[in-house]
Amino acid sequence: MNFVSTRDINKTANSAEAIAYGLANDGGLFAPLTLPNFSLEDIAYLSQKSYSELVAFVAEPFLPGFIYEELGAFTNCAYSNFPSNPAPIVSLDEKTHILELFHGPTLAFKDFALSLLPHLLTASLKKLNISKTAVILAATSGDTGSAALEGFANISGAKICVFYPQGGVSNIQRLQMTSKAETNVKVIGIKGNFDDAQSGVKNIFSDFAVGAKLEEAGYILSSANSINWGRIVPQIAYYFSAYTNLVNTGKLTFGKPMNVVVPTGNFGNILAAYYAKKCGLPIHKLICASNSNNVLTNFISTGVYDRKRTFLATISPSMDILISSNLERFLFELYNHDGEAVKTLITALAEEGRYKITHEAHKVVEELIYAGYADDKATLAIIKETWQKYGYLSDTHTAVGIKVYREYIEKNSNDKTPTIIAATASPFKFADSTLEALGVSALGDDFEKLAKLSEISGIAIPKPLGNLMNKEECHKTLCNLNEMKSQLFDWLKL
Ligand SMILES: *Cc1c(COP(=O)(O)O)cnc(C)c1O
Repeated sequence: MNFVSTRDINKTANSAEAIAYGLANDGGLFAPLTLPNFSLEDIAYLSQKSYSELVAFVAEPFLPGFIYEELGAFTNCAYSNFPSNPAPIVSLDEKTHILELFHGPTLAFKDFALSLLPHLLTASLKKLNISKTAVILAATSGDTGSAALEGFANISGAKICVFYPQGGVSNIQRLQMTSKAETNVKVIGIKGNFDDAQSGVKNIFSDFAVGAKLEEAGYILSSANSINWGRIVPQIAYYFSAYTNLVNTGKLTFGKPMNVVVPTGNFGNILAAYYAKKCGLPIHKLICASNSNNVLTNFISTGVYDRKRTFLATISPSMDILISSNLERFLFELYNHDGEAVKTLITALAEEGRYKITHEAHKVVEELIYAGYADDKATLAIIKETWQKYGYLSDTHTAVGIKVYREYIEKNSNDKTPTIIAATASPFKFADSTLEALGVSALGDDFEKLAKLSEISGIAIPKPLGNLMNKEECHKTLCNLNEMKSQLFDWLKL
């Protein structure tokens, strides 16, 4: 009994169940009731270890029932197609350090979790004696889709179906998904935004009739979104890696804290940093950076979560989200594991479009997290400025993080804490906007833009994108929101 639903602590699951099912059957997220503690000795020990050993060590206490050796085999395999240092740090100045999380196969941070998740899922099904084929459903704002397809393509015993908002992702992001030709994958564009895709997927999950029908046909539904606990764990690990890297390179005194800035949408990546802090990693401030869909900025400064606002399509599309699913796990911690209270808030969000947390809870949030946002104009300006001042080229999402950190420092000039800014995607994934920021009028097709960006920056086009050039878009299905279920059934021939 290691995990419970965030809406009802009587609904329990072990690690294998939490990973295999993805979501509790009351619609809640699986969350741990007790958290592990990492001592400074543990962290010193980790600073001597390889990346895959570090991930296995950090993951073990978060996944009771999985042993270190088993996890080590998975992480070895999962990170074999990353560079030898999967999460390198580039320093802009003495206290500003970019944690580059985009050197995996699809060039965004989601590769860290989605390279490992297929191993965790396959093992979980085995532990549960389930011989059914897993049907992975994912809603994507652009990067989860390609990373999940990469991870699950050709995995026997799994099929994966990705829904993306048509027109809501960059060209390169779409091509990365729609060119996937493996027979166990399906990619569908929906006529709606990411929130629509995400709630459509959640509806399929909580539809008992769908579950029963799939079950009968030999399938079990699972999730590759960050609602799956198996997504959060590998992300907790790279904050430990960032810390030991800073210490090993003399940029941080061992035992002293660092700040962490995270460009945020679904609150998954920053939640991982919060868990790392709660489990003993010395972190001072968490800095939550949003784009113009700044529902989290408002929530953190006022204690009111209000999604009744216009959904904006921005140049950082992977953060175009108004319903941040993983905030539910954070609420569960804030409310000291009171599932009833969480359920009340989430019900209010569904029915009235807003909720307000208690004064005490809000005080805790404000102490923990600084929040800010950057609109498109500010994002473009900071890309240019960072390039001119430091010779560092960031993508649009990372730029939102850099901008909000700037603002934080202006307001808190006495905070000298070394700071990690999570760089969540490669600038080449968003070549259009990056070129625009640099003042280059981007002519020609996507590949000419990549070449232009490479020429200006002196950075080679990342291989996975260069390889896309010769590929065909083999997935062309588009559907309405009310057809998501029938599209899934058609694909599975049900
Ligand atoms: C998914 C994504 C984000 C947002 O991450 P969350 O875990 O949803 O907060 C930020 N940047 C990029 C590039 C992403 O792909």
